[in-house]
Amino acid sequence: MKISVDLELCQGHSVCLGECPEIFDVRETKEGYPQVVVLLDSPPAELRDKVMTAVRFCPNHVISVAEE
Ligand code: SF4
Repeated sequence: MKISVDLELCQGHSVCLGECPEIFDVRETKEGYPQVVVLLDSPPAELRDKVMTAVRFCPNHVISVAEE
């Protein structure tokens, strides 16, 4: 699987970080607001369920996953 995020629409809620901290971090941008950072865009299979939970619960629905 390959993760992508629409950074234009990410508002830094940190739900993704809460659900799967192995893959998602939230950091302050140089403009001074929080935004997601994908630590590993091709996660190992054992993290699939956690990634999919983050996808489901992202309030802005900006995380998408493509199968490779
Ligand atoms: S939960 Fe969604 S909107 Fe919030 S930081 Fe994560 S990717 Fe961005």
